[in-house]
Amino acid sequence: MNLLLIRLIIFAVLFFAGLKLYSMYREWKLNRDNLVEGDSQPADSKMVLCSWCKVHVPEPDALREKGEWFCCSAHRDKYLEEKKDD
Ligand SMILES: [Zn+2]
Repeated sequence: MNLLLIRLIIFAVLFFAGLKLYSMYREWKLNRDNLVEGDSQPADSKMVLCSWCKVHVPEPDALREKGEWFCCSAHRDKYLEEKKDD
């Protein structure tokens, strides 16, 4: 009788552990799928060259001014200032 109870408890524990693992796996898989989708977006975005320091920056992060691309506003300002002097 005691043995049956112990087996029942072990079975219940294994059952709930399995359920917990399954839900954890589903969550992990969902997160991984989201990560893969998120990773593919920056790869698709174009890289542009900063006209001042010649560093490549993703287009969404770059600044555009008079047909030129810049990595930051400081470089944009420096470039425009130098052009003004010419
Ligand atoms: Zn720059």
